[in-house]
Amino acid sequence: MIKIIGIMSIFGGLGFLGLGFIFIVAGGSSNLRVGGACIGLGLVLLLLTYFLVKMESKRPTLVHQDINVQMSGSGEFKKRDIACPSCGAPVKDENIKLIDGGLMINCPFCEKVSALEEEPKW
Ligand SMILES: [Zn+2]
Repeated sequence: MIKIIGIMSIFGGLGFLGLGFIFIVAGGSSNLRVGGACIGLGLVLLLLTYFLVKMESKRPTLVHQDINVQMSGSGEFKKRDIACPSCGAPVKDENIKLIDGGLMINCPFCEKVSALEEEPKW
C-alpha cells in the first residue's frame, strides 16, 4: 500500500516539477508564480516520498520462514554380531567390557584381549 503511494507521489512530484519548469520557461509574471508553486509542490511531494521510504525501511519486517528438516540416521540400525578380531569366533556380550571409553573384547576361545574399533559406515 505504502509502495503504491510512494510511486504515485514520486510521479506526481516529478510531474509538478516538469509543469513548473514549463510555466517558468513560458515566462510572464503570472506564469512564473504558477510555475514556482508547481515546483514547490513537486519538491514537497518528493521529500514526503523520501521520508516515507526512509520510515518504511526502518520498520522491522516480519520474515516468514518455513524450516522443514527431517531427522534420520545415516543408515539403518541393526544388531551386528561381534567377532573376535584374531580368531573370528563370535563374542558374547559378557565378554565385552567398556574400558576407558573403548570396548575391549575378551575372547573366550583364544583368550586374547583386543580393542573393538567402530568401522566407518562408508
Ligand atoms: Zn578370539
